[in-house]
Amino acid sequence: MKQRKYFDAPLLDRLLASLARLSGVAFVTFVMLLCLPFLDSSQESQEPNPPPPITAEEPLRVGVKLRRGETLASVLSRFGVEPPSARAIAEKVQPFVNPQKIRPGHNVQVVLNPEDKTVQGFEVVVDNNIVQVKATADGWLAERYAIPFVRDRRVIRGSIKESLYQSGVGAGLSPKHIADVAKIFEYDIDFFSDFRRGDEFSFVIEELRYADGRRILGRILAAELESGDETFSTFHHVTRDGRSGYYDAEGRAARRFFLRAPLSYIRISSPFSFARQHPIFRTVRPHMAIDYAAPEGTPVIAIGRGQVAFVGWRRGYGNVVDIVHPGGGYTSRYAHFSRFAKGLRKGRAVDAGEVIGYVGQTGHATGPHLHFEFLRGSEKLNFLGLRLPKNERLAGEEQRRFQRLRAEREALLRRTNERVVEADREVLVGN
Ligand SMILES: [Zn+2]
Repeated sequence: MKQRKYFDAPLLDRLLASLARLSGVAFVTFVMLLCLPFLDSSQESQEPNPPPPITAEEPLRVGVKLRRGETLASVLSRFGVEPPSARAIAEKVQPFVNPQKIRPGHNVQVVLNPEDKTVQGFEVVVDNNIVQVKATADGWLAERYAIPFVRDRRVIRGSIKESLYQSGVGAGLSPKHIADVAKIFEYDIDFFSDFRRGDEFSFVIEELRYADGRRILGRILAAELESGDETFSTFHHVTRDGRSGYYDAEGRAARRFFLRAPLSYIRISSPFSFARQHPIFRTVRPHMAIDYAAPEGTPVIAIGRGQVAFVGWRRGYGNVVDIVHPGGGYTSRYAHFSRFAKGLRKGRAVDAGEVIGYVGQTGHATGPHLHFEFLRGSEKLNFLGLRLPKNERLAGEEQRRFQRLRAEREALLRRTNERVVEADREVLVGN
């Protein structure tokens, strides 16, 4: 903005007039000359003159860890830069990263002149980039480089002692890997009770190996879990049109049409049954629904994609929502809500997992819970015992692509650690 002052209106008019007379190369040259003052605009008043460049030796690099209460500027001050100058130099990283993001514990490489130990610059690694600030003949300049990495795959195997969580994390998986695999196999395996001591697991995980020595584990590429007599496997695959997801060995998507439950429930207080004593009326009536006990206000999610068919008050149900799901004529019903999700109204489309309301005890309820019904047409079904149709398989060329990838990953799943890392270096990314 400051540079605008160079152009008062009459001067600008004259410039434009002369520009109109110029053409071709002359015009381009003229514009470039005009731009020169802007290119030099990085100088700030506080900024110190850079030290003379190092000529003879390699610069001296000192690794420093930011201490509690320290900033980049205070690190530079530790090396003898006056605080106002240190602040100005530290702020040079601003175009690339907010200096506030560089917190205690962060590593800083301070570059010094080996002779007089004056600060020549510094480097920090932020979000897989190196941000470098250095003294040049033109002042203090900042640059950013992406750190090159190699995309590798790592196999992590083990057997279960206490739980998949404990043994998996012990073997090098992250808690997120365990949560992800639990989500993939949500319908097939009960992660709390199905595993036994000695059951085996094997994962192929994407591993990014950065030039600065860091190794970062990425997503699961394949996993195989043994649960009792059964073996479950899953493979990550990206279709040609860019959809990525997990598939079983036959190329069937792991993501189901319906979620397993409409909330992260604490316990099922009353299962689906054809005869139970009603808690209020003390009569034996069928309970063709599932009651999920949960604290008042617990968010409730739509179990599948669909359209809101009813939202409002209905006798007994209290605040209730009906969602009609496309294909198969299924409806899901959620009752006793304390309140509805904002903006929920009849006719609105909802996604699987979208919050539609909050647990309450409106209507006939003795305590806060979600009363959940699942219907086909007007028939109430036992959602927990339901065998819903499986997802479609990949077909044609996509299936062939998937099978090639699966065969390769399956071979990895059954091999040991070290060899795999060596044998399966995939792509070199220079960025
Ligand atoms: Zn109920």
